[in-house]
Amino acid sequence: MSTRVLSNFDLQVPRDIPEALDILDDYRDSITPVAGGSDMLIAWKMGVESGNAMSVTALPGLDYLTYNDNDGLCIGALATIDQLLNSDIVRQKYPALWEAAEVFATHQIKNTATLVGNCLRASPAGDGSAVAYAMGATLTFVSKEGGERREHIDDLFTGYAQTSRQPNELATQISIPAPRQGSRSAFIRVTRVNEDLAKLNVAAYLEMDGDSCTEARLVMGCVGPTLVRLPKCEALLKGSKVDDATLNAVADTVNDEINPIDDQRSTAEYRRSVAPVFLKRTILKALS
Ligand SMILES: Cc1cc2nc3c(=O)[nH]c(=O)nc-3n(C[C@H](O)[C@H](O)[C@H](O)COP(=O)(O)OP(=O)(O)OC[C@H]3O[C@@H](n4cnc5c(N)ncnc54)[C@H](O)[C@@H]3O)c2cc1C
Repeated sequence: MSTRVLSNFDLQVPRDIPEALDILDDYRDSITPVAGGSDMLIAWKMGVESGNAMSVTALPGLDYLTYNDNDGLCIGALATIDQLLNSDIVRQKYPALWEAAEVFATHQIKNTATLVGNCLRASPAGDGSAVAYAMGATLTFVSKEGGERREHIDDLFTGYAQTSRQPNELATQISIPAPRQGSRSAFIRVTRVNEDLAKLNVAAYLEMDGDSCTEARLVMGCVGPTLVRLPKCEALLKGSKVDDATLNAVADTVNDEINPIDDQRSTAEYRRSVAPVFLKRTILKALS
């Protein structure tokens, strides 16, 4: 049930990571970490049981954005979408991520929402998470018992709004590899109005040797219970010259790999009819 009034809940606000890990260890399944809160507050207003909440916003040193050629782009768990948008490194080296940050929600949401939260929400319509998936990101988790654990994003999404994060784990970082020589990336999304969530989105990462594609990672959103990788389309691109014939083959294949539904933002039929068009457009945008 939708309501404007939140039910009562206990809020923990740890001041450092060890304290946060103690809290997660004590509460386990009965506490939810909250960063920007842009997903969690809506979920609670929609009637999802709030239980206990642990705000991670007072944890020091997690709002960083760093880049080097070895580690790539390292984004702390409290770095916001607005920080991505204002980063010259993101704009120059990770155009798809910058494009996702640009179209992401409103200024108010950009100022609080985090990329880590976007990935851990595991929405099939996530914008930043679609790009992180296409670019092969890795999340870092820490827990009291297990120390540090790194999870490749290929293994993160386990179902609708489900991830492989364990209840006692705090996410501290997401990192995206440095783009290889000759690589390109792009992101496109289709919405009803600019500030809305996607009806469909596409993120593409391609490694090129001249006209030929040597590596491809393609992700489409809003066409399944999770963001969907398109391995058959990727295989058509890999090792091929990216010409009209290849692009048409990719477009003809995408509907074999997706399973869209009707929902409040669009219909399965519309999504199926535009998926080939927007996939082709995103690849061409990456190459342009
Ligand atoms: C009006 C509005 C517009 C929106 N528009 C868009 C849009 O255009 N595109 C889009 O992709 N999304 C959109 N969203 C969704 C939302 O803003 C994003 O998913 C956002 O990135 C979530 O980040 P957050 O920091 O607010 O996460 P939160 O709401 O704080 O948390 C989200 C999830 O991540 C977990 N989590 C967060 N941080 C940690 C941590 N450090 N350790 C462990 N778990 C953690 C939480 O437990 C929760 O499961 C919109 C939301 C609203 C309300």
